[in-house]
Amino acid sequence: MNPKDIARLITEDPDILAEMEIQEIAVNGSKAYICQNCIDGTHTDETGYDHREGEIDYNDCKNTGIINDQLVQCQCSEDWPELMDAIEGVPGLGEMNLLTNYDDTMLAMAELEGEGWLDEQLNATESDELTVPNMLKYIKRAHRETEENKAELAVATDPDDIAYLKRMLNRLETNTVGDAIYGTGGWHRYMVRENGKVLYTVSHGRTDAEKAKELGFEFA
Ligand SMILES: [Zn+2]
Ligand SMILES: [Zn+2]
Repeated sequence: MNPKDIARLITEDPDILAEMEIQEIAVNGSKAYICQNCIDGTHTDETGYDHREGEIDYNDCKNTGIINDQLVQCQCSEDWPELMDAIEGVPGLGEMNLLTNYDDTMLAMAELEGEGWLDEQLNATESDELTVPNMLKYIKRAHRETEENKAELAVATDPDDIAYLKRMLNRLETNTVGDAIYGTGGWHRYMVRENGKVLYTVSHGRTDAEKAKELGFEFA
């Protein structure tokens, strides 16, 4: 099947199914619908199931959302590698992300932590633990591991090896990397995914959770 045909308008009740943010992206000149989880790199549905683990022909994303009053399905599928590549270049919807939205993300954290914190980060080096530059080092390391795993996967033939490498790649995408970025006095903590997305650790900052949410942080 042409992967583009996987894209389809669905007729089920939109109120039940449309819970996911979906956006339209360009893939080699044509348009594709992509859900927020696939953009974020987790590729999961609401139960946490990763669609890439499905059998071939059934590994497309089943998440749906509304665009222009129409219910559409996310078209993410490993059968469409150009789309998988295109997703990596898509910033989230103004999400807090050190790779795709650095300035806004730093300013949002400074809203919570103060100007002094921002100065410290801008003067820190990657060997200063629990800082932004230190976290960027861990992100780079995770990227290297991902590239190595992808290269191994491309030539792997043993099913056990393939399963293992897929698990490793998935783990890197969905888990956070490094330790954390500490806020002022170590009170707030920010966890970061390999794709740069910054999560506010709500267990360390309940009193400011509302403000963090308004600024655009998702919670870890
Ligand atoms: Zn999706
Ligand atoms: Zn996906």
